[in-house]
Amino acid sequence: MNNYEVLNSKIMRSSDLPLYWIDPLKVEADLNVLKIEGKKITVQDLLFYPEGGGQESDQGELLYNDQVIAEVLHVEKSSSEAILEVKWKDRKVIPEPPFPVKAKIQPDRRKALMRSHTSQHLVSAIFEKHGYETKRAEIHPDEFLVELDKDFPSEDLSSIIEEANLTVVNGKKVVSKFITKEEAMKFKARTPLKKAEERIFRVVEIEDTDVSFCGGTHTSSTSEIGTILLTNHGKRFFRFVVGHKASEMLNKLTHYLLLASKQVATSPNQALETLLRTYATLKDENRNMNQRIQSFIREVVAKSQESFIEIVNGKPVLVIMALPIAKKQMGKIMDELKKSETFIISTSDNILIIESKHYEFAESIFEKLKKALTAKGGGAKGRYTLKLEEQLDRSKIISILD
Ligand SMILES: [Zn+2]
Repeated sequence: MNNYEVLNSKIMRSSDLPLYWIDPLKVEADLNVLKIEGKKITVQDLLFYPEGGGQESDQGELLYNDQVIAEVLHVEKSSSEAILEVKWKDRKVIPEPPFPVKAKIQPDRRKALMRSHTSQHLVSAIFEKHGYETKRAEIHPDEFLVELDKDFPSEDLSSIIEEANLTVVNGKKVVSKFITKEEAMKFKARTPLKKAEERIFRVVEIEDTDVSFCGGTHTSSTSEIGTILLTNHGKRFFRFVVGHKASEMLNKLTHYLLLASKQVATSPNQALETLLRTYATLKDENRNMNQRIQSFIREVVAKSQESFIEIVNGKPVLVIMALPIAKKQMGKIMDELKKSETFIISTSDNILIIESKHYEFAESIFEKLKKALTAKGGGAKGRYTLKLEEQLDRSKIISILD
């Protein structure tokens, strides 16, 4: 199916257009090699998408007489030619340029870039509808980032994501149109007209959703995207994964959370380990997901046989004894706990950690314990550690804190 239209026949023949514009699913072609300089090969034909407009370039390989001669690692555009940065496999078998090579693009990577690029248009269009302009976008395989012009209220994020995913399942058509500069000047699009020197302008339309000037590769329907999942955000930055990467991450997270919820009742420490794995899965932390994990951690800690709450100067202090986790693994858990609790943890390597968002309170507990235990340690701003000679027991810690 053609998912492009040439609106003005006097501009061009379709053979004037880059192959990645006409048919983004075409991943093989014969290319004419014009020049070779070290690891750079200049080819006449625009099959490989060159890095630009925030989108990463294609990768792939070059074959000569059915033999792979080079891996294509990166692509740049230079006027109407493409410069391929390669890793040579066999340079001896090729003649002096010009000569033809067969080029193959990594199809999975191409499709993953098409999915994330289309998703980015979709998400940017929805933000725009709510009055937030996209200042910058990054397109990686099945992953993209959007930077807005102003702070977006995080409580409205879930409705944006839901709207984007609804557009995905509704399978809206994505069509490219090619127009002249004169036509482009009059065109109403979400993105500004940038390259005034260009002869041909390309407009990418998502049915009922978005119209923008763009030179990237896109799917022909939003349904090809699969799923859009938010994985991290600040006030203006939003990072998403899509397609297979999104469903894989969701499945993994659901698996871990279900597993942890079963483990909580019988073996809280194991549940804690499972949750640490969940953290590792989310390389970029999703705040919404973190809140769920945070409540699980609380549950784990609360059900641990080794933990109790001690009232010190009228304030509750959570004491977790001999947690079988090394201090270096504790950072995440403590970050979560300290948001609302004052707590003391003795780790299995005999480190006593005192944390509270009430700095003075934490310091008073620290001083009390340090003196009573004649232990070495220090800290500041609500976080203190003590190195103990041996494990502390519950009655000892209560007697000191009372
Ligand atoms: Zn685009």
